[in-house]
Amino acid sequence: MAYKSDIEIAREAKKKPILEIGAKLGIAAEDLLPYGHDKAKVSQSFIDSVQGNKNGKLILVTAINPTPAGEGKTTTTVGLGDGLNRIGKKAVICIREASLGPNFGMKGGAAGGGMAQVVPMEEMNLHFTGDFHAITSAHNLLAAMIDNHIYWGNALEIDTRRVVWRRVVDMNDRALRQINCSLGGVANGFPREAGFDITVASEVMAILCLAKNLQDLEKRLGDMIVAYRRDKTPVYCRDLKADGAMTVLLKDAMQPNLVQTLENNPAFVHGGPFANIAHGCNSVTATTTALKLADYVVTEAGFGADLGAEKFMNIKCRKAGLAPDAVVLVATVRAMKMNGGIAKADLGTENVAAVKKGCANLGRHIGNLKSFGVPVVVAINHFVSDTEAEIAAVQEFVKAQGSEAILCKHWAKGGEGIEALAQKVVQLADKGSQFTPLYPDEMGLFDKIETIAKRIYHADEVLADKSVRDQLKAWEAQGYGNLPICMAKTQYSFSTDPNLRGAPTGHSVPVREVRLSAGAGFVVAICGEIMTMPGLPKVPSAETIRLNEAGQIEGLF
Ligand code: ADP
Ligand code: MG
Repeated sequence: MAYKSDIEIAREAKKKPILEIGAKLGIAAEDLLPYGHDKAKVSQSFIDSVQGNKNGKLILVTAINPTPAGEGKTTTTVGLGDGLNRIGKKAVICIREASLGPNFGMKGGAAGGGMAQVVPMEEMNLHFTGDFHAITSAHNLLAAMIDNHIYWGNALEIDTRRVVWRRVVDMNDRALRQINCSLGGVANGFPREAGFDITVASEVMAILCLAKNLQDLEKRLGDMIVAYRRDKTPVYCRDLKADGAMTVLLKDAMQPNLVQTLENNPAFVHGGPFANIAHGCNSVTATTTALKLADYVVTEAGFGADLGAEKFMNIKCRKAGLAPDAVVLVATVRAMKMNGGIAKADLGTENVAAVKKGCANLGRHIGNLKSFGVPVVVAINHFVSDTEAEIAAVQEFVKAQGSEAILCKHWAKGGEGIEALAQKVVQLADKGSQFTPLYPDEMGLFDKIETIAKRIYHADEVLADKSVRDQLKAWEAQGYGNLPICMAKTQYSFSTDPNLRGAPTGHSVPVREVRLSAGAGFVVAICGEIMTMPGLPKVPSAETIRLNEAGQIEGLF
C-alpha cells in the first residue's frame, strides 16, 4: 500500500477558520490577531486576563535516544492531543516552531507526520508568523550596536578580541561560521574576527522561550553578556542600552501562535530554541497559557529523554514553576533495533533479539524519568514494518519494568489510533505526581554537572580541565551559582560517543568548555563538538524544492 507524503496529507486538510479554533478555547475574536485565515497570535491582554484560571494537567512527550530518522516525538505529541480530544477531553498541544534553514538541507518537518500533523505545515516550516525574523533582527541589532559603540570611541572599553556576541541568520550557511568583519578602512570600524550562528542558537531565542512576560524579557535581554574588557569584566547588553529596542522588536513575537491539527484541535506553536546549547522546548508563555485554557496540555522536548526531558524538568519547569503530571516516552521498534546494534539499512528485517537488546536503552530512560517522581507510560509509535513479535518483545520488557507500553497508530490513523494511550495518560495524570527536579538550586555548578552525568547518563565521572572548574567557580563567586545546567552533548547516546548505543556504563563525560547564558539563566556545559551553524549536505533538498503549475510547494517533505 502506498502512503501519501506528509505534505500531500497536509494539503488535503479540512482546516477550520482560526477564529473557530480560538472559540473552542474561549478566546474571543478581538483577542486573536490573525495572520491570514489559519494562523493567529493570542493577545497579551487575553493572556493576562486568564491568569486566575486553574491549571490543567501537563503531559510531556519525550523519547529514547533517537536514530538518525527521528522517532516521532512531534508526531506522537500531535496524535496524543487529537486522541485526548477524541475521548472527550479538552486538550491543547504545545510544540516548537521550525527553523527555516534546515528545510533546505535534509528533509524533515517540524509539524508531525502522517495523520498526526499540525497545519498549515508549509507555512509553519517556512516564514510562519515572522517570530524568527523578529528574533534575528533583535539579535543583530545588538551586534550592530556593539560594533557601532566600538567605532564611536568604545567608552565601555570593550576588548575587541573578546566580543562574544555573534551574529545570526536562519540559514544553514557554513561560509559564515568564522568571518572577519569591519573590513574596508577607517570608515568601517575596527576589523575583528566574528561569526554567525543559526537563529535558533541565539540566546535571544532561549530568552523568548523562558521569559514570563515582556518585563521579564527585557530584564533577561539586559542581563546577557556580550563582551569582556581587558580585565575580563563582563559587558552586558544593558550597558549598550540595546535591551529596550530589542524588546520592541520582540513584542509581537512573544505572543503564542495558534494553529490547528488535521482534526481541527488547537495547537500552540511557539519558540524553537536549539536542544543542545539551549533547552529545546517551546515557550513558557505558550505552555502556561495553554494550561489556563485546557484540561490537558501535551508538549514535547527535543532529542532523547537524557537531554530533552532532563532540561524540560530542570530548566523549563524549575524556572516557570511548572510540574509535569505524566510523561509519555516514545519508542519505536526500529530504534530499539538500532540501539541493539543493527545498521539503518537492515531495519526492515525482523530481529526480535536485537529489539530485546536495544530495550536496555528504553529501560534506562524509564528509570531516569521515574526518578523525577512522575508517572511514565511508553508509546510504541507503530511503523508498518514492525512485526507482532517485535512489538510483543517491547511490551514484555516494559511490563517487567513496572510500566506499560501502548501500541499507537496515530501516524496511520490520527487520533483514533492513539485512544488507548490517551485513556492511560488521563488515568496517570489525574492521579498527580510528586515532581522534584534532579538537583537543588544551591548545589555547586560542577556538582550539578556531575549529578546529571552520574544519575542520568550513568557515567562514572566527569572530566574537566582546571580552567573549566575555575571558570565555574568564578561564576559562582559572581552570583551565578544558583543557575541550572544546560548540557550540550550528542543525542544519540547516553554517553558522549554517538556510536555507543544501548545503556552504556563505565564511561566518562568530558566537559570541553562551559558558557554562561546569563540572560536565559543557565550554564552550558559542552561535551564534544557542538555545531551552532549547520551546513548544507552535498545535495541539498533546496535543489528539488519548487512551485508546481498549481502554485503548490513541491519537494518540501
Ligand atoms: P521527532 O519529533 O522525534 O524528531 P517527528 O515526529 O518529527 O520526529 O517525525 C520524524 C519523521 O518521521 C516525520 O517525517 C514523520 O512523518 C515520520 N514518522 C513519524 N512516525 C512515523 C510512523 N509511525 N511511520 C512512518 N513515519 C513516521
Ligand atoms: Mg520533533
